[in-house]
Amino acid sequence: MNINIPDYVNSALLALENAGHQSFVVGGCVRDALMGKKPADWDVCTSARPEQIKETFSSYKTIDIGMKHGTVAILTSGGSVEITTYRIDGAYLDNRHPEKVMFTDDLTEDLARRDFTMNAIAYHPKDGLRDPFDGQKAIANRLIRCVGEPAKRFEEDALRILRGLRFASVLGFQLEKESAEAMRQCAELTKKVSAERINVELSKLIMGSSADKVLQEFGDIIEIAAPGLRAVPVSHASEKLPVRLAMLFPEKTEAALRQLKYDNHNVKTAVALAGLLREAPPEGGLAAKKLLYRHGEEIARMYFETLGRFPELDEILQSGQCYSVGQLAVNGRDLIAAGIEPGKTIGESLEYLLQTVMEGKVENDKEQLLQLALKKK
Ligand code: ATP
Ligand code: MG
Repeated sequence: MNINIPDYVNSALLALENAGHQSFVVGGCVRDALMGKKPADWDVCTSARPEQIKETFSSYKTIDIGMKHGTVAILTSGGSVEITTYRIDGAYLDNRHPEKVMFTDDLTEDLARRDFTMNAIAYHPKDGLRDPFDGQKAIANRLIRCVGEPAKRFEEDALRILRGLRFASVLGFQLEKESAEAMRQCAELTKKVSAERINVELSKLIMGSSADKVLQEFGDIIEIAAPGLRAVPVSHASEKLPVRLAMLFPEKTEAALRQLKYDNHNVKTAVALAGLLREAPPEGGLAAKKLLYRHGEEIARMYFETLGRFPELDEILQSGQCYSVGQLAVNGRDLIAAGIEPGKTIGESLEYLLQTVMEGKVENDKEQLLQLALKKK
């Protein structure tokens, strides 16, 4: 089995080898390559200690990602490569971080600290695959299985529970029975994971191709990790993050999403959508235009997509029908020129004209609108 490694990564392996160190590509990139997918980034593990990694790549720009944990990133013209010293994690005291890490010369020990067997495979172009935990078999059977004893691994680091569920959703894999049971048993520990990390895993999970299946099967765990979430199917709706967030956090949406550190745009969009989803769906063109007026095109589009009513909005948008003050054939200056008092009245008049145009009671025509505005005055 050959894996196609990009030149810049091969050069990094070669440089380490020439300096007398062992090195392999490892983790997600090997898993993805074995599945026939193009890896997003390439991680290298090596027997070289962090200072030796830096020495080997002294002519490159390097970034100390975590010298204490043995990770150095080197920046090459082809891309950046994260290089990590083989390590054994010490005792975990807070269900999240090892108290200390120890470096080792043994690749198998490094693979043993990794979360799932599919992520514990290493590859070198000359040596081939190193797979002491049968990760290839797990990939072939589409199974997520912990390296070692599942409950112990989740107790060490509860983020692994969320990573496991995320992989199940994104890759469409099954969780092996013992690992799934241990996840349930350790679910409360996910409360110790930082909101930022929960955010990353949850977002990938709910956008994954098997999101509904994972939400259904493991909703109880996900609801513990993400307070306020109600595990409901989301895949029939639009493939946009705020839409799925709105469906999963139907009540107290803002508080729940802020707690999970979602950015302003996602929070605001999801809050507006969750509000709309609690109302009766709009009937007819006028209701759709009012929705456009209240929420703007982006949210209105997501809402209609969620309702599965795609063409309606496009019909309004393409027909050029009016739903915002900016689209009126008159503006504030026109109204002032026609003799309407500047100030608050102008805004009110424009609002009135827009409502009347949306209701189809007057044409969006400059003369007719001016007449109407003056008559109202
Ligand atoms: P992705 O496709 O999201 O990048 P990945 O498996 O590559 O998935 P990374 O976060 O890039 O995930 O981590 C690289 C590798 O480091 C993993 O494949 C795994 O071997 C190991 N790893 C990452 N996080 C953990 C963890 N919490 N516990 C144990 N091993 C981990
Ligand atoms: Mg990765």
